[in-house]
Amino acid sequence: MITVNDFDFENKKALIRVDFNVPLDTEFNVTDTTRIEAATPTILKVLEDGGSCILMSHLGRPKGVSSEFSLSHIIDSVSEIIWVQVKFINDCIGEKVEEAVANLEAGEILLLENLRFYDEEKKGDVTFAQQLSKLGDIYVNDAFGTAHRAHASTTIVAQFFEGNKCFGKLLAKEIESIKKVLSDSEKPVTAILGGSKVSSKITVIENILDKVDHLIVGGGMSFTFVKALGGKIGNSICEDDKQEMALNILKEAKEKGVKIHLPVDVIAADDFSNDANIKVLDINEIPDGWQGLDAGPKSREIFNEVVMQSKTILWNGPLGVFEMESFAGGTIALGDSISESTKKGCFSLVGGGDSVAAVKQFGFADKVSYVSTGGGAMLEMLEGKTLPGIEAILK
Ligand code: AMP
Repeated sequence: MITVNDFDFENKKALIRVDFNVPLDTEFNVTDTTRIEAATPTILKVLEDGGSCILMSHLGRPKGVSSEFSLSHIIDSVSEIIWVQVKFINDCIGEKVEEAVANLEAGEILLLENLRFYDEEKKGDVTFAQQLSKLGDIYVNDAFGTAHRAHASTTIVAQFFEGNKCFGKLLAKEIESIKKVLSDSEKPVTAILGGSKVSSKITVIENILDKVDHLIVGGGMSFTFVKALGGKIGNSICEDDKQEMALNILKEAKEKGVKIHLPVDVIAADDFSNDANIKVLDINEIPDGWQGLDAGPKSREIFNEVVMQSKTILWNGPLGVFEMESFAGGTIALGDSISESTKKGCFSLVGGGDSVAAVKQFGFADKVSYVSTGGGAMLEMLEGKTLPGIEAILK
C-alpha cells in the first residue's frame, strides 16, 4: 500500500483530501475536533519533510455557495490543533486559488473553501477534478469518511497524478484495521452486530459469515431473528418481512460453522422511555405491551464469554437504546468486555456511526485497538466492496 511515508515532500505541494466535515454549533464553533486531529499525522509528515499542504474538504450539505457551510469557520481550530497558522482562500478552483498555491512556501498550509459549493464535486466532474489537480504535485487521500464516494476530490482527481498519489496515514490505518479483521485476522474472530435494523446490515452479515467464527447479533435487530424462530417479542422492534432472511442467515451460519449468539434475555420496558417500568424477561417471552430495549444480564454474560475468548473483534451497532440511561447497560457491559479482551492482546475494531458514538460517550475509545472514522465507508468495506476512493489510488 503506497502511503505518504513512501514520498519525500521536500519543496513539494501536497494536495490532500481530508475529511473536515466537522460538527459546528450555532456560533460556528467546532464542537468535535476528532476528524481534524485524525488528519494531523499526514499533514505533519508533509510539513516535516519540508513541503506544503493544500487541504480540501467538504462541510455539510450546502446547496450552492452558503456562508453557513464555509470552511472559514474551522480555520482557528485547525491552526490550534496543527500549531501552524492556516491560510484560507474562499474558493477551491480557479486563478485566484492557483496564485495562492504558487505563493505557498514550505511549511505552510492552505485550506480551500468547501468543495461542495460546486455541484461538480459530487457529480465527479472530470473538468472540475482537473482544475483541482493543478493545485498540487502529489495527491494524498486521507478522507476515509468519503472514500466510498466517486466524487471529484476523492476519486476522479487521482487520475491526474499518475505515480504521484498515495494514501494518507489515516486512510492507510483504516484499510489496515479492516484487513486485520477480515483477511489477516487471528482466530477466533468475533463480529458483534447491533443497532436497529437487520435490513441495513444484511450485506455485511453475508460477507462476514465467511470470515468469522462467532457472530453476536444484538440490539433491535435480534428481535427479527427471535420472532422468526417462534419467540414472543411483544412490542419489540421487528422487520417482519426480513424473518425469512434471518432464518437463511442462521442456516448459512450453521453450514459454515459460524456460531451465532442471540440474546437470551432482555431488559424490557412498557414504554419507549427512560422512565418506563422495567422488567428482565426471557427473550422468547415478552408479552404484548412490553418491548425489549437492552440486553439482559444472562445475555451480557454469554457475550462477555465469547468476547474474552476472541483474538479479533469487530463491533458495529449498540446492544440497546444506549441513548437512554436505563437501556445503556448492555452496550456499556460489552464495551467493558471488549476493553478487557483488548488488554489481553485481542485486536478490536469499532466502526459504524452509533457504536462509535457509544464508545466515545462511555470512554472506551482509548481502550479498543481502533475506532473507525467512517460510518458508511466502513460498512461498505465490511460488505466486501472496493471503495472508489481507495481503488483510484491503487490503479
Ligand atoms: P443502527 O443505525 O441500525 O446501527 O441503529 C442504531 C440505533 O439502534 C440506536 O439509535 C439504538 O437506540 C437503536 N437500538 C438498539 N437496540 C434497540 C432496541 N432493542 N429497540 C429499539 N432500538 C434499538
